[in-house]
Amino acid sequence: MALETCGSCGEQVPFADTVHVLVHTKGEDGVVDAYVCRECYEQQLRPIVESSDIDGDEATADSP
Ligand SMILES: [Zn+2]
Repeated sequence: MALETCGSCGEQVPFADTVHVLVHTKGEDGVVDAYVCRECYEQQLRPIVESSDIDGDEATADSP
């Protein structure tokens, strides 16, 4: 099974357990892509993605 190295913690994780991250820096670096393990994604990236995602929705402060 193919392994990927997590771009955050450096752990070797099965490809199926990785999350492909694509970052448009709009700068010199252009588009950066990386693989992170699901754990790092859920701990570090998902909060960012989800917080920017609720902009269009009517977010209720007291939802779990
Ligand atoms: Zn990781």
